[in-house]
Amino acid sequence: MSVITKTITVRSNGENDMIDITRQTDEAIKASGLQDGIVAIFVSGSTAAVTTIEYEPGLKKDFPEMLARIAPSEIIYEHDNTWHDGNGHSHVRASLLGPSLTVPFKNKGLMLGTWQQIVLLEMDTRPRDRKIILQLIGE
Ligand code: ZN
Repeated sequence: MSVITKTITVRSNGENDMIDITRQTDEAIKASGLQDGIVAIFVSGSTAAVTTIEYEPGLKKDFPEMLARIAPSEIIYEHDNTWHDGNGHSHVRASLLGPSLTVPFKNKGLMLGTWQQIVLLEMDTRPRDRKIILQLIGE
């Protein structure tokens, strides 16, 4: 059993940017020397999230629109009253989705569905450099 930790960095274009990180995750597994195991994908930051989705133009719009219905940007947030950074909605959306995801791999391949990609979702109001930690546990 081995534990291998890698970090990848992606640049987001700001609020609602959805970035497909499946290829980088797959490459990390292929380069690890591990055959079977799990990979934890964790974004370090409180205004972004990691999840899976079918990465296609319709859902790239539908998903942020769903978040806007659940946590609208135009209501009052105590976070904004305190810090005046205007991203209270970004924080609550990110916490709702969560910063991490665990995906099993077998024979050096991610066990994802055919139409299932791993994505970083940017929820902050400005472009950000996002550090994503990939921790592989396996043999
Ligand atoms: Zn904030």
